[in-house]
Amino acid sequence: VVANPAVQPDAELAFEGALRPKSLDEFVGQQKVRGQLQLLLRAAAMQNRTADHILLAGPPGLGKTTLAMIVAHESNRPLRMSSGPAIQHAGDLAAVLSSLLPGEVLFIDEIHRMARSAEEMLYLAMEDFRIDIMVGKGAGATSIPLDIAPFTLVGATTRSGLLPNPLRDRFGFTAHLEFYDEPELEQVLVRAAVMLDLEIGRDAIAEIAGRCRGTPRIANRLLRRVRDFALVNDIPASRDAVRAALELYDVDERGLDRLDRAVMQTVLTRFDGGPVGLSTLAVSVGEEAETVESVVEPFLVRIGLLSRTPRGRVATRAAWEHFGVADRNSTLF
Ligand code: ADP
Repeated sequence: VVANPAVQPDAELAFEGALRPKSLDEFVGQQKVRGQLQLLLRAAAMQNRTADHILLAGPPGLGKTTLAMIVAHESNRPLRMSSGPAIQHAGDLAAVLSSLLPGEVLFIDEIHRMARSAEEMLYLAMEDFRIDIMVGKGAGATSIPLDIAPFTLVGATTRSGLLPNPLRDRFGFTAHLEFYDEPELEQVLVRAAVMLDLEIGRDAIAEIAGRCRGTPRIANRLLRRVRDFALVNDIPASRDAVRAALELYDVDERGLDRLDRAVMQTVLTRFDGGPVGLSTLAVSVGEEAETVESVVEPFLVRIGLLSRTPRGRVATRAAWEHFGVADRNSTLF
């Protein structure tokens, strides 16, 4: 088989990388967080020291990885990337920490999924830039202290509530990322359309911005599907093309996807509007509780379809209306 030289490798991942803003000024939205980060980085630069450790909290796709890269870039420091699931033993973390360059920015994504034993090692490292390495086993085991290079930890989590307090307390600053509003998402989309070399009208951009769950990553992904749709059907990327493409991909007018709808339908019809517990809900839709809690629910809560109460998840009146199911209270005459 002769490879077709005209076929390009799948550029989607590369595209996501290329789209990442490189500086705080290019980063759209999150004005408050940007201001806070700017101050923290400037102060550190003025005193020629490493910046305080930073925790970035919020649902996936809102720009946590991008901000970590910006922190390194703006402070002119190298960046090391790791993630909680990759750190399953204290030794995994020791290997990373002991090889850090002075001043390096260490990004740990999904930091809430790191092993407990590693968490404890991280406390000492964050505070004193020192780790204790355990050698040997049983009665002969000893710990050898090891100095490590000063570094800035940037942790990202979709569930800051899951972090143990001692870890949370060691961050100098916690940024809570919010969902983006439509004008901000339009800016993200215009930028991506330029990079994709896609001709697309303002109203089509606005249509996507209203349907991407307040999330830049989803905005960019939907834009690529609209581009495909226009390309294959040989039509302009108009508002109608957006509607047709998103219908094909099961994204409704409010941006709810298949899983969002499955969760809402379950609460509404199987549990009569709730309350229903998280784990029951997760089992009913065939998903991990963590996914339901950190990916699906924050957006449903934000747009007022679901509320989280101490007794469980409850559908709001707006949910009954949106899904066209008769409100159970209004059926009680
Ligand atoms: P997270 O780490 O929170 O899951 P990422 O930083 O990986 O999110 O961002 C996902 C995608 O969305 C990236 O391609 C990035 O370019 C884009 N993105 C996120 N936030 C912004 C923003 N504020 N401005 C422009 N693009 C953004």
